[in-house]
Amino acid sequence: MKPEVNGERCMRCGACVGTCPVNTIFLKEFTLEINDDCTECGMCVKVCPIDALYMGGD
Ligand code: SF4
Ligand code: SF4
Repeated sequence: MKPEVNGERCMRCGACVGTCPVNTIFLKEFTLEINDDCTECGMCVKVCPIDALYMGGD
């Protein structure tokens, strides 16, 4: 599963966007979008300064 974003925590700093090796995170006006080409490497989760990203799961 690709990471999930906690929209209430995310302060849209962009750190995760810059760290994604496949450039699949996009800052939208009010949300963060992660596209399906995510390789689930987990780097964005590690780099988020306020733990707003987490590996999801159904
Ligand atoms: S898990 Fe890796 S590939 Fe997926 S969005 Fe985060 S940094 Fe990008
Ligand atoms: S690194 Fe964390 S706080 Fe910054 S934009 Fe990404 S999810 Fe939001």
